[in-house]
Amino acid sequence: KFRKGLRKTRDEGMVKQINETIESHEKITDELFDELEEVLIMGDVGFPTAERVISDLKEKIANDNITSVAQVRETLKDIVAGVVWGGSYLALRTKPSIILVIGVNGVGKTTTIGKLAMRLKSMGRSVVLGAADTFRAGAIEQLQVWADRAGVPLVKHSEGADPAAVVYDTIQSGKAKNADVIIIDTAGRLHNKKNLMDELNKISRVIDRELPNASRETLLVLDATTGQNAVNQAKDFKEAAGITGIILTKLDGTARGGVVLAINNELDVPVKFVGVGEQIDDLQPFDAEAFASAMFD
Ligand code: GDP
Repeated sequence: KFRKGLRKTRDEGMVKQINETIESHEKITDELFDELEEVLIMGDVGFPTAERVISDLKEKIANDNITSVAQVRETLKDIVAGVVWGGSYLALRTKPSIILVIGVNGVGKTTTIGKLAMRLKSMGRSVVLGAADTFRAGAIEQLQVWADRAGVPLVKHSEGADPAAVVYDTIQSGKAKNADVIIIDTAGRLHNKKNLMDELNKISRVIDRELPNASRETLLVLDATTGQNAVNQAKDFKEAAGITGIILTKLDGTARGGVVLAINNELDVPVKFVGVGEQIDDLQPFDAEAFASAMFD
């Protein structure tokens, strides 16, 4: 599944270009490093991260006395595995625990909530969903479709209702059903940061009051195909809300999977899952070794 998610990056995009660049050189030269840095930037690794990767690569090549071009690829793989970090660990110690899911429209937030609910359910945890994105037209119906697919109950109000009231009702329902995990879909309008912050604060206060000691995760959903935009969204959301993890969707849809490196390096937030397709089981736990290996092996 992880390999499937990185197929375009590996076979058509960034990694293919890395391979071609390395193959076109007979010796390890500054020119090779410059070309590799260019390829990384084109692959959405972003300038600051590409610079770091190349400088780490140079250092390792010097320290390990590597002189053969043939070894550059393996060395780069090691560096990549060291830059990316994450893991699917979710702090869900209490019963119930609560997961807030945030992200702008179109990134795959609803689909991801469905996949996450399914995943938790298949691990034997009971889940209740709350439709607190009452702002976007159609969001509630769409979430209902995914709740049905995953076979988990959804608490919803009508469009335009107060999100904090939905959260309150979802928590009561979760308590009544003795649920393990409550997952809340929240609106992700970023064009007004203050609005978003106010809304998330209001939701937070409800959770603080109703579930004072509950484990809580705030997961930000980002679309890998949007490259630098995703990185910028992450920075904005990190400022507006304390995010505990990132879910990067549509990794299968980009040939520039280097965005994972940019997110990891520019933000101090772990990538917890990646989306690798549109089906309910297309959510993969993130793992640095698996990522580097899916790219280079
Ligand atoms: P939302 O507006 O953020 O709730 O986005 P949706 O969940 O409606 O998803 C938007 C589109 O992205 C839909 O067509 C999904 O099928 C698609 N999508 C979501 N996640 C993935 C993924 O990991 N891979 C691919 N290829 N498509 C995805």
